[in-house]
Amino acid sequence: MEIKFTCPHCQAAMKAPSDKAGCQGKCSKCGMQVVVPTETELVSPEEQATSRFVNKSQNITISLAPTPAMTGPISPPLKKGFAITSLVCSLVGVLACMGIILGPLAIIFGGLALRNANRQPQVYGGKGLATAGLIVGIVVTLTGFVWLIFI
Ligand SMILES: [Zn+2]
Repeated sequence: MEIKFTCPHCQAAMKAPSDKAGCQGKCSKCGMQVVVPTETELVSPEEQATSRFVNKSQNITISLAPTPAMTGPISPPLKKGFAITSLVCSLVGVLACMGIILGPLAIIFGGLALRNANRQPQVYGGKGLATAGLIVGIVVTLTGFVWLIFI
């Protein structure tokens, strides 16, 4: 068995008998001192080339890393129609003292919006708006009933 290796000084291809592994010798080409690698240390030129290539590509990857990340796919805006309608009904009900009419509407639209948002959260948004509309709607409706009873 012969160990093939390259001289670290002149890159000349060298051979040494395997029993000289780990021993020092002189390069036949440049005369510099070289250590014959043991077989476990041996790396074939192809592997060396591959690892160099990998290192290079890693460097490229690292140098490219600071570039801004790709923006994700633009999702269509969530539907908030019912939620906004609910909130508008409840608020108008408060402002216009029409809670007895608009309050139930706010509750219906708020309920619809909440149901849609729970069933299809990727399509329907405005859960907070719907909750607000629903709560204000209930308050406005109750206030409207109290108002009717006492006046
Ligand atoms: Zn040499």
